[in-house]
Amino acid sequence: MKPSLYGNNLESLNHWLSSNGHSKNQGEVLFRYLFNGEKDNIRPQFSNKMLKDLEESFSKRLPIPSSTQTAKDGTIKFLMKMEDGEEVESVLIPFYKKYTLCISSQVGCAMNCDFCYTGTMGLKRNLKAGEIVGQYMYAVKYLRSLKSNEPLPNIVMMGMGEPLHNFDEVKRALEILTHEKSYALSPRQITLSTVGYLPGLKRWHEMPPVNLALSLHSPVKEIRDQLIPVNRGYPLPEVMEVLEAVPLHHRQVITYEYLLISGLTDRDEDAHKLAKILIGKKAMINLIPFNPYPGSAYKKPSTSDVVRFKSILVSYKLMTMVRTTKGDEILAACGQLKAKTQDPLQ
Ligand code: SF4
Repeated sequence: MKPSLYGNNLESLNHWLSSNGHSKNQGEVLFRYLFNGEKDNIRPQFSNKMLKDLEESFSKRLPIPSSTQTAKDGTIKFLMKMEDGEEVESVLIPFYKKYTLCISSQVGCAMNCDFCYTGTMGLKRNLKAGEIVGQYMYAVKYLRSLKSNEPLPNIVMMGMGEPLHNFDEVKRALEILTHEKSYALSPRQITLSTVGYLPGLKRWHEMPPVNLALSLHSPVKEIRDQLIPVNRGYPLPEVMEVLEAVPLHHRQVITYEYLLISGLTDRDEDAHKLAKILIGKKAMINLIPFNPYPGSAYKKPSTSDVVRFKSILVSYKLMTMVRTTKGDEILAACGQLKAKTQDPLQ
């Protein structure tokens, strides 16, 4: 399979141009055309020789949806088919006046988190940068077909896969998406969520300065080990130590995702222990009531338990939000993503 044309950052395009005897001056024009051509109505003149060479070296195929489902709350889930037939999910979530796109970074996932539908698939393969960028390109096209002046969606890297387990391709995709000649997204419009995969977190300084979210889910070692098996190799105290070194600008915080599972992670003692870990840190806690999926062993907490848990954290003056569940009727909510072609009970 040829590499995707959309997986090129400006440097690699320039390198390809000069190694194939084309003028490097074309690099910026080509890069801008690939990602902004339609919107800016750019019609640059490229030589036939260059177009032929591009065709021979790269695939211009973008991921295409095999299915699209829209929930009553406006959440749109795409099952995106890659060139080799593998499928991942991308989800557009309406949030105030714009959408946020939840992007996948891998086909399946190796982390095997116990609460996660995707985790039941195992890892099939990493996505290439062009396949990650391609999910965004498709979502932008789709939104603009509904409304031509729809603002560019924000991004959360929280779809299928552990993004830091596919570090180099995710890094390249984020470089492309934030480049001033491409979509020029501000790194602040992008949040990458990790379960605490330490080899990737230790390289965080190499990433564009996007927002970071850690799936913490339990302050109790045994329970976190059960929910997120990588905690056994990369325990939370070590992860927190690495996070301490992450440079943050004065208003930036690290988001701590916390899954509220009835009777397991939503007890008063859990809230107090969580508060003790996060007190004094530039932290924002995002409480996520568990979304059950077919065959899941865990239960959703009651609304009163969510309120009680939140009030304990707030009593420690910790910034705390409860994430509203969106798209759960089409299995598009957090931890529910799994390519539809799989048997949900397998
Ligand atoms: S929660 Fe994230 S890291 Fe864990 S199995 Fe699911 S996709 Fe992978």
